[in-house]
Amino acid sequence: MANPIFDKLMQPWLDSSAVFLKLQDGGLMSHAAFFRRVAQYANAVVSLGLRPGDRLAAQIEKSPQTLALYLGCVQAGVIFLPLNTAYTDAELSYFVEDSGARVLVCDATRQAGLQGVADACGAQLVTLNADGGGAMADLADQQASNAPVVDRQEDDIAALLYTSGTTGRSKGAMLTHKNLVSNAMILKDLWQFSADDMLLHALPVYHTHGLFVATFTTLAAGGGMIFLPKYDTDVICDLLPDATAMMGVPTFYTRLLGSARFDRDLVQNMRLFISGSAPLLAETHIRFEERTGHRILERYGMTETNMSTSNPYNGERRAGTVGFPLPGVEAKITDPATGAELPTGEIGVLEVRGDNVFKGYWNMPEKTKEELREDGFFITGDLVKKDEDGYFQIAGRGKDLIISGGFNIYPKEVEQVLDDQPHVLETAVIGVPHPDFGETVVAVVARKAGEEPDVTQMEAAIATDLARFKHPRKYIVVDALPRNTMGKVQKNALRQDYADLFA
Ligand code: ATP
Ligand code: MG
Repeated sequence: MANPIFDKLMQPWLDSSAVFLKLQDGGLMSHAAFFRRVAQYANAVVSLGLRPGDRLAAQIEKSPQTLALYLGCVQAGVIFLPLNTAYTDAELSYFVEDSGARVLVCDATRQAGLQGVADACGAQLVTLNADGGGAMADLADQQASNAPVVDRQEDDIAALLYTSGTTGRSKGAMLTHKNLVSNAMILKDLWQFSADDMLLHALPVYHTHGLFVATFTTLAAGGGMIFLPKYDTDVICDLLPDATAMMGVPTFYTRLLGSARFDRDLVQNMRLFISGSAPLLAETHIRFEERTGHRILERYGMTETNMSTSNPYNGERRAGTVGFPLPGVEAKITDPATGAELPTGEIGVLEVRGDNVFKGYWNMPEKTKEELREDGFFITGDLVKKDEDGYFQIAGRGKDLIISGGFNIYPKEVEQVLDDQPHVLETAVIGVPHPDFGETVVAVVARKAGEEPDVTQMEAAIATDLARFKHPRKYIVVDALPRNTMGKVQKNALRQDYADLFA
């Protein structure tokens, strides 16, 4: 009998009295106590009628209960499908219907709105609240605190995780036991996580970053987490002295740098800061090192592949790069038109192969075929360049590439020039429809608070640095760029907003 996630990430710590979760209110939960709760959820899930391979969808606030419910599903062989808490009732109906989930777990505050969704999809609706209350918690309370471990193969699906929907409708990525265990073990070794680590965890757990990279890497090592409901700069500053490591999206780091409290003294016990999910500006990397003496370790991955590349733990963490392919992950850079491998230094599409790569998109065999080659390479859709030393640099998403008058324009190249101009906080360069060129370049520039970027100055800088076909035809200065909950800039939304500029 085997259940890879249980065997590798749970079994070793079942009886450990060491702290697994430290909560904002000071509450502590040992590994042993946590896994007793996991077993109760495993029994509760079975008592709801779920069988191995069934889907349980959950749109619940982040709390220890969320994690225990997830691992309870793993123990019971049920496929867990976590959902962004920001999704509306209408959005949820797509996920529940698409996944064929038989149970939908929600917060009591959402019950009235979601009952209709659940009924329409033939799913049972059960509540689980952030404070540990709700029908699902009551059901778990009544269960034994040990539970059978359901047999699972390496290629069985452990989670159905929908992508962030940055470029279009979210797709359900089928992640197997092998995908999740292999990545957790590799990251634990690479980033040197041990049972002594206490990870500051302020990420959502409906996304691969908070759920797998953070939680599974910690579990692989038997460490603990300071488990916070959400990011709050002051709370982070209060708790940093108790932590040894932190994982965040770039906005966490820019916000920390915006706080006068954040200094070297606060991070004395820290050994590692990791960033991912969106590009970390080189400027943030440099300012962070000046303030704290720590170099942020940037890594890269996606829902479909877990993590694929990382800067080194020992060795140079290079700003503006996402480091090297992980051990066991093959990576190649190919011509998007032909699929042929490109020479070092050229920008192309990143393809990756390894135990980290998912099994395919749920219910989307055609899309799976388009993106997952028969030889196992997954076409990520991200444009990447490898430098002379082998560091990978993300040049942006294929979908954000601008083709103007037949020329390729990589937005990142234009953004880098504009980001360096006075009074500019950050920029998003997009392509919008143009009657002569097909598409043309527009720069959306976010100002630093209370400052005013000078368009003439930006134009002059661009004229010095870049060929004419890359020059933005219009500059739009805004207070802030639109971001989704993972801190990703929503270029889709910007393209829609400015679609008619040249029409
Ligand atoms: P969708 O696929 O639904 O459009 P998404 O791609 O944003 O949404 P995720 O799987 O959450 O969904 O995000 C993966 C993407 O995030 C990667 O393909 C890449 O574009 C981006 N990304 C992740 N880490 C980094 C990083 N360190 N630097 C730059 N981009 C990153
Ligand atoms: Mg994607």
